[in-house]
Amino acid sequence: MRVVQVRCPRCGRPSFSKLRDSMVFCEDCRTLHTVTDAGPVVIEHEIGDFARELPMRKVHMPFWRLFSSVNILSETVSGGWVARLMSAASGGSRSGNLFIFVPAVDLPPPVYKYWAQTLTTNPPQYRSVERFTAERLPTTIDEESARKLADFLILSFEAEKPGVLQDIRYEVAVQHSRLIYLPFYEQGGQYQPGF
Ligand SMILES: [Zn+2]
Repeated sequence: MRVVQVRCPRCGRPSFSKLRDSMVFCEDCRTLHTVTDAGPVVIEHEIGDFARELPMRKVHMPFWRLFSSVNILSETVSGGWVARLMSAASGGSRSGNLFIFVPAVDLPPPVYKYWAQTLTTNPPQYRSVERFTAERLPTTIDEESARKLADFLILSFEAEKPGVLQDIRYEVAVQHSRLIYLPFYEQGGQYQPGF
């Protein structure tokens, strides 16, 4: 595997970055950053702690948590996923804010969609820690791609429930993003939450 040397943009500590992982974590000052053509960019992040111990491989899986405003313009049949979510979040109005969780790691498409939908529907509760306590999975999806995927993911959640909703029009605007590393157990390609 090829590695490149990078320097922490905050404290200058040199570290090595595996090319497959676009994120670099400084062990000295706990800054997470990514390297762009314009130079290093510090990434706001959180690391979720393991709430239980299981005899399986432990990993920290990255998700882009996009704080988003959603505005439902129209829907022909009520009861769709976005509509229900918005209604719960804002007491029945047609617009409101929600956290959209977009996996930042390569996963098989069904697994990818499952975690996006599960975590967006039920935002995870976790205790934050300052350092990684397990293997950090590589971030392969950048924030810009995550923003584009968010819209598509919401639509796919709806489209997969035929008969529930025939048509929906909405706008999504991402207000703020953060990379959240959630604790998971892995066995045979199956992931189980550790939070
Ligand atoms: Zn540093």
